Amino acid sequence: MSDNNEGNQPQQQNRGNNRGQNNRRGNGQGNNQQNGQQGSRQQQAQQNSVLARTQTRRGEVQRAARRNSELVTQIAGQHVIDVPVNKSVYNGYEGEQFTLIQQKRLKPTKGPVLRVIPIGGLGEMTIGKNMMAIEYDNDIIVVDMGLLFPGNDYPGINYIVPDPTYLEERKHKIRGLVFTHGHLDHIGAFKHLVHRIPAPVYASKFTTGMLKKAMEEATSGYQPQFNELNPDTHERVQLGDSFSIELVRVNHSIPDATAVVIRTPVGVLVDTGDWRFEENPVDGRKFDLERLEQISREEGITLLMNESTNCDSAGTHTHGEHEIAQSFGAIMDHHKDSRIMISTFSSQIHRMQMVLEQAKLKGRKVAFAGYSMLQNLEVSLRANAIKIPKDVIVRMEDITKLPDGKVVIVCTGSQGEFNAVLNRMATGAHKYIKIKRSDIIVFSSNPIPGNEKYVVRTVDGLMREGSDVVQNKKPALDDFGPLHLSGHGYHEDHIKLINALKPKYYLPIHGEFHMLVHNAELAEKECGIPKENIFVADSGDVIEIQPGGNGAKKVGRVPVGGIMYDDSGEEVSEIVLKDRIHMSNEGMFVVVLTVSKKTGRLLTSPDIISRGFIYLRDSEELMNTIRQYLKQKIARSYGAGRKVDLDDLKREIKDDVAHVLYDQTRRTPIVITVINEISAAPANGNGEGRGPQQNQQRELPPQGV
Ligand SMILES: [Zn+2]
Ligand SMILES: [Zn+2]
Repeated sequence: MSDNNEGNQPQQQNRGNNRGQNNRRGNGQGNNQQNGQQGSRQQQAQQNSVLARTQTRRGEVQRAARRNSELVTQIAGQHVIDVPVNKSVYNGYEGEQFTLIQQKRLKPTKGPVLRVIPIGGLGEMTIGKNMMAIEYDNDIIVVDMGLLFPGNDYPGINYIVPDPTYLEERKHKIRGLVFTHGHLDHIGAFKHLVHRIPAPVYASKFTTGMLKKAMEEATSGYQPQFNELNPDTHERVQLGDSFSIELVRVNHSIPDATAVVIRTPVGVLVDTGDWRFEENPVDGRKFDLERLEQISREEGITLLMNESTNCDSAGTHTHGEHEIAQSFGAIMDHHKDSRIMISTFSSQIHRMQMVLEQAKLKGRKVAFAGYSMLQNLEVSLRANAIKIPKDVIVRMEDITKLPDGKVVIVCTGSQGEFNAVLNRMATGAHKYIKIKRSDIIVFSSNPIPGNEKYVVRTVDGLMREGSDVVQNKKPALDDFGPLHLSGHGYHEDHIKLINALKPKYYLPIHGEFHMLVHNAELAEKECGIPKENIFVADSGDVIEIQPGGNGAKKVGRVPVGGIMYDDSGEEVSEIVLKDRIHMSNEGMFVVVLTVSKKTGRLLTSPDIISRGFIYLRDSEELMNTIRQYLKQKIARSYGAGRKVDLDDLKREIKDDVAHVLYDQTRRTPIVITVINEISAAPANGNGEGRGPQQNQQRELPPQGV
């Protein structure tokens, strides 16, 4: 028996729609409601010859259903954070697990105190949905509003954004929404949330461009007030009575990335955003470590919130973007009669500039392909974030007219995304480009953890077409130099940053739990920050800092969670997600009964619809068994003019059918019962007719199927 067959999610179809609600764990627990009815149900079972023949006890079926329900809840609940287990020595409670009982006993701190509250992005199922709230007295500011891609565990879910309920309830206090950079894990939730927590927006020029672009797809109609801040002039803005902010330039894999310096009544806080050090950045603008050092020297840094992505990768970067450009040039030289296709992330604007410069040098033309890539290019042109050499860019439809040795195509799909340009080329589905044997495809990227197998699928597809594929870190075959550079600093870089800033308190941010712990260890062991001044926090944890920076502690939790969206940008409720997971594991089984209201007789043979469960034509015997059960059940239930409670009857049939199916197949599909009570005689008068359409519609469960 496979894992997939071990459970069921009982009786969830008739629950109300919870759109927009907080997706909390426990919200969708299976609700077995057998208990008191047990005795009479057993009697009924004996009356029904089909049930009497089953070999499986009802309790066993219920246990199977419960196991499945738990499995589905577990899969669906991976993004949900209630009171997470956190017994790390840095957990803020001396390694003791924090409980709801403690939460109830907590007394609010008297007088104004600074509260640092990660609304998303810390200790979650993957990196993403970064969002940080800073609260003091009557003022709140929010740093970043990102999304998270949950991957294939979540069928039909494109991404998840943070639940803003805590902030929404205090929206009159919000003085500003500040953004560190334009990656989706930092701005992707903006278009969905900004109207719920409206406030002026602050970001660097390119980031502002990305935010404005995102708002073009927003459906709320809300028009945010955008404010560009110049990090190079150390421009400062006062937000409310309590805060002022300043952006400080960092280097990252997207233009105009910044850290945020937040001056507060208890001291200076720094949120690093995402960063790396670069000796020779493409736009010539280096990480402004001097400015951060100056602030540290002159004002002191009370709390450093530092990203965690690569803090456990040893050493430091051994190359920069210009070395990658050299590799591109070498590939163009080496394959001088071939088309070169370079695939990279669509926000790698500087990488695109490197391609353009090399192409110019080698006498090639460049076309860009992929919706997000073209969108981002447009933003970079407007924000002067890219310098395009003259006469290099051509349109996709025109590049096919050039000789192969003059062609470079930059496209999306480096993560093996099914619908991206590269995969469409590989499968012959692209409008202009079909892959051919002489093509050279360059992956200027590394697979994001979890995407490896999709990248392999794309690589294999390309190689099946006979083309040559060059990937980063696989130089044995071609001996080309580096093709990619991570946007995040390594272990040594983190040590350098922390030592330069000398913060009193330290909070690892942007990371899965193990990354946060590694980041905390690094700060303690390599940089000498005392253990009790370091916090490994989950989203929802509240860290309070006393006035004068005298003492910081964890003080319980606020509600946090996620809101899910599908490909069309529509919200998806947790109930729908659970149905999808359940259906993808076990399938669905629907019985439709048409009963005469007058006589209580079945007017037609029961209709049975099965999807993703078993193929009906191969299971005639089982179908006959189910029909036999249904006929007996209806005859007994309506017999002797009994009054029938439709909801009870539907539930009984659902349970019984689930029982028989489990008995015969050891599977627990979603079972749905539809009963049409027809008062008038059927239209065709021969007893074989179908009830009116709207009647049937009315009986269907309200959602999820
Ligand atoms: Zn990030
Ligand atoms: Zn980033």
